[in-house]
Amino acid sequence: MADLYTAIARNLNALGVKMEEKEVATVAKQCGADASSLRLTDSILGLALERQRERTVATLRKFSRIPVHKRLEDFDFSFQPSLDERQIRRLATLGFVHSGENVVLIGDPGCGKTHIAVSLAEECLDNGLRAYYITMSDLAMKLITAKRDNRLQRVMASLLRPDCLVIDEVGYDHLDLEASELVFKLISARYERKSIIVTSNYPISQWTEVFGSDALTQVIADRLVHHAEIIRITGRSYRLKDRI
Ligand code: ADP
Ligand code: MG
Repeated sequence: MADLYTAIARNLNALGVKMEEKEVATVAKQCGADASSLRLTDSILGLALERQRERTVATLRKFSRIPVHKRLEDFDFSFQPSLDERQIRRLATLGFVHSGENVVLIGDPGCGKTHIAVSLAEECLDNGLRAYYITMSDLAMKLITAKRDNRLQRVMASLLRPDCLVIDEVGYDHLDLEASELVFKLISARYERKSIIVTSNYPISQWTEVFGSDALTQVIADRLVHHAEIIRITGRSYRLKDRI
C-alpha cells in the first residue's frame, strides 16, 4: 500500500496539487480503500497527468510558430557525413538550453540547417520548454515595427520568454543599421540566460555583409559565439539529392 500512496502523491504533485504521502494514506484509510481502488486512483491520476502534458505541449507548439514539423529521427545522418551525429544527439538532450548556451549552424542551402534547428526546438516542446521560431528577416521587421509603434519593450519581453529562440536564415536579407542594433539588443538581453539557435548560409567571418557594420557584427557575433557550439555543414543539398 505504501508504494501506492507514494505513487498517488507523486502524481498529485506533478498535477500541481501539493499533497504528502501521509495525507493520501489518511484519506485512503478513511474511505476504507483497498489496493485495487488505490491502483484505480493512481491510474486515473496518471491519465490526467498525461492529458495535461499533451495540452501543454500543444499550447507550446502553437506559440512556437515552428513552420514545418521536423524530427531528428527523420534526419539521414549518412547523407551528411560532415555532421557529427553524436554531437547533434547530445544537443537534443537539451543541456545547452538549460544552461542558456547557443548553437550556430552554418552551411549551404539545403544541407539541413533548418531541419536540425527545428528538430532541437521540437525536443524543447516535448520536454515542456518554450521554443520560438522566426527568420532573421521577420525578426528584423518585428523589432523595427515594434519600435515605430512604441511597443519595443513588450515585444522584447516576449522574445526573452522562450527558453530556445531559433533565428533562421541569417543572411537571406541584409539588415539596415537600425535593425542590426535591435537584433544586437535582443541577443545581448538573452546572452548567458536564454539559448539561441542561429542558422546561416554565411560563415560568421562574412556577417558584416548581413549586419552592415563591422562594429555591430563584432559585438553580435561575440555574444552569440561566446557559449556556443558552431556546427559547419559542408555537404550537398538534400533538396538536390536525386536531381543532380
Ligand atoms: P537548409 O535550412 O540548410 O537550407 P533544410 O533543413 O531546409 O536546409 O533542408 C531542405 C529539405 O531537405 C528539408 O525538407 C529537410 O527536411 C530535408 N533534409 C535536409 N537534410 C536532410 C537529411 N540529411 N536527411 C533528411 N532530410 C533532410
Ligand atoms: Mg533553411
